[in-house]
Amino acid sequence: MSPALDPVLALAPRLPSPVWRVDDERLAGRGVELRLKRDDLVHPAVPGNKWRKLAPNLRAALDEGHARLLTFGGAYSNHIRAVAAAGAAVGLGTVGVIRGDELARAPRNWSLARAEAYGMELAFWDRARFRETLSGLAEPGTVRRLEERWGRSYVLPEGGTNVAAARGAAEIVAELPDLGPGDVVCCAVGTGGTLAGIATALPEGARALGVAVVKGARYLDGEVARLHELGWGRAFANWRIDHDHHGGGYGRVPAGLAAFAEDFEERHGLAVERRYVAKMLRCVYDLAGGPALPPGSRVTAVITGPPDPV
Ligand SMILES: *Cc1c(COP(=O)(O)O)cnc(C)c1O
Repeated sequence: MSPALDPVLALAPRLPSPVWRVDDERLAGRGVELRLKRDDLVHPAVPGNKWRKLAPNLRAALDEGHARLLTFGGAYSNHIRAVAAAGAAVGLGTVGVIRGDELARAPRNWSLARAEAYGMELAFWDRARFRETLSGLAEPGTVRRLEERWGRSYVLPEGGTNVAAARGAAEIVAELPDLGPGDVVCCAVGTGGTLAGIATALPEGARALGVAVVKGARYLDGEVARLHELGWGRAFANWRIDHDHHGGGYGRVPAGLAAFAEDFEERHGLAVERRYVAKMLRCVYDLAGGPALPPGSRVTAVITGPPDPV
């Protein structure tokens, strides 16, 4: 489809996303080069990997004649806001099922208020029901019950990760034609969809390093492998997940990490998103020059989103 006829591509004003070179003597001294793939600039309301992951799903929803997207997320989910904005932009209705029934009575936080402003209908479910529904999404009965309430819907899991989303994330690598041996593409890992997609598109000798932002999330390795099996019918051996830079858990930003992010912002003029991007960059600096990122490595760090508004 030509860009002019593709309502989803028409949504993205800035592709390919720019690549920035970072000059930092701390890395240069260890023989490591750093570049930033500025996916945070892809779209003002559907930034970063959220646009990458949603684009193929939006196309599928439109192709299949859906009128509505239905998805799941937490109270501050970047995915929820992205779906609300993307749905509004391409003319699809949106439903967001939010974890935590207590939130129904609380004043809307900025993230949920923004989703509602894009026209998303919010439903607040208790944690048990939320979890059971998400784990049963592959079963027709689960989707049928959702559609009994909301009508025929294109259902996206929490975080928007599925095989189509991973294929969308692979486009990040398609925009980096100079990759080869010695290159490492880094990204933060929430559900693993972005890392899975990146790994599938790398040339021989290049590697992908994901940085888990959730504590003790070994299941993420299995999730990436499952996506590869499902979508590509094979395993890939060119990726791994670092489980040591989650900062204490999802959403936690310890003082040392905040200080690192502020210092990076001052040195390099990038506004650093804290829940994902700061942890990923910190990991790169920690591992630079060691066995995971030996001298001679060139790291392309994917900036998967902008900071939250203050
Ligand atoms: C959602 C998100 C991620 C995690 O992506 P996954 O594909 O779920 O692993 C990383 N960075 C930012 C900024 C995000 O919003």
